[in-house]
Amino acid sequence: MDNTNEELEILRDKVRGLTIEIMRTVQQRIELARQIGEVKSRLGVDIRDEKVEHDIRMRVMSLAEEIGMSIEFALQLLNVLLAESEHVQVQKSELKAVEKQTHLSIFSRARQLEASGKKIIHMEVGEPDYSAPPRVGAALADSFKMKYYHYTDTQGIVKLRDAIATKEGGEISKDQVIVTPGGRFAVFSAITSLLRAGQELIVVEPAWPAYRECADFVGARTKILRTNLENKWIPDTKQLEGMINSTTKMIVLNYPNNPTGKVLDDKTIEKIVLIAKDHDLYLLSDEVYSDYVFGEFRSIRKYDYPKSIVVGSFSKRYAMTGFRVGYGIANKEIISRMTSIQAVAITSVAEPMQRAALAALEVDPSENIQLMKSRLGLVCSKLKKMSLRYVDPDGAMYVYPELPKGAEDLPIVEKLLEKGVAIAPGTGFGDAYKRFVRISACQPERMLEEGLDVMASVLSEDL
Ligand code: PMP
Repeated sequence: MDNTNEELEILRDKVRGLTIEIMRTVQQRIELARQIGEVKSRLGVDIRDEKVEHDIRMRVMSLAEEIGMSIEFALQLLNVLLAESEHVQVQKSELKAVEKQTHLSIFSRARQLEASGKKIIHMEVGEPDYSAPPRVGAALADSFKMKYYHYTDTQGIVKLRDAIATKEGGEISKDQVIVTPGGRFAVFSAITSLLRAGQELIVVEPAWPAYRECADFVGARTKILRTNLENKWIPDTKQLEGMINSTTKMIVLNYPNNPTGKVLDDKTIEKIVLIAKDHDLYLLSDEVYSDYVFGEFRSIRKYDYPKSIVVGSFSKRYAMTGFRVGYGIANKEIISRMTSIQAVAITSVAEPMQRAALAALEVDPSENIQLMKSRLGLVCSKLKKMSLRYVDPDGAMYVYPELPKGAEDLPIVEKLLEKGVAIAPGTGFGDAYKRFVRISACQPERMLEEGLDVMASVLSEDL
């Protein structure tokens, strides 16, 4: 007995010593990364370098093979180290750089200006200006009368889950639906419940920033697949496949897309589903704009891929942003993992809001869709007159034009804000897009016209 204890103690002591040694070495690595950060910031070089990362990943993989370590574990560990290096380098460069501006930071500054008496035309946020359906108000009042204001199933009330399953069509049961506080929380619970630190997900940019923020939250790494205006914002599926390694666990798609309005053709989606299948990846498809589609749209659900998660929302379809009701659809196992996060965080979505959402589903939103389509048409025709390049949106509520040569998003956004027009900077959707801005068509036509006239005059002054 004593002997065994002694043996255990010797082994534990060795482990302690090794752990301390590893920590010291890791600290040396962090220190070196900090120095690299200083040099990069002096030279104005990007913090992330995919080639350098690829090279070190290859070396780690062959070392893992040589020493008999699991390749997946080795790469996960490497990702944790890479993320920390990036973190210390960002901290370094942020000392000098201006605070990052996104559609939300511009919105909050525009609100402050309004509070001080300035008139602002809001073309920066995706919040429809029209009213929620009257039926929704009646359902809220009813909830109070009927005392429908209790905790509910974490996954959501059965009637609402059934109704969502019917709306989404196909063979889904209520067990494959979770009602969340906004589509945002479905994105959060999917990413945080399915990914661990050191694992990777792939995001197609330009993109809504939340995917990356959720991944950061659990220490997962975001790999960026950039798309561009020249290729009509269509992702290169070969490039996508080349980005996958054994730590890659998820691809995130968002069509109709925020900010470009793009909807992908069936062939491209099919290829992406096949890639996901071949590499056994989760496919998170954020479809919160699926009602705002002006041509063909196929939900990822139509491809019957068992590891897909579809995110939907009541925010945009019925102008119910402040009700905070959205949902996720996936197989039971994924839904149960998302439900665990939701149980810890919020217990359930407020019951009156779930009842209101249920009432909303009885309302035909086609008037809203038509309105958005005609507003986007107006925005596009104005942008064309300014000779700006853009891809006609197939859906959603935005246009993402390229600024004239020599112009950059932040100075233009600032000048416009001074003149009472708020638009979103392109870099809020990816670092590579400083020559772009996002125009949201969530205002009445005369306001959009006025705002775009101001934009035209600012751009002509700027040239
Ligand atoms: N996904 C995308 C692409 C979005 O643009 C938004 C809102 N801007 C959401 C999800 C979340 O919307 P909500 O939480 O209001 O449902």
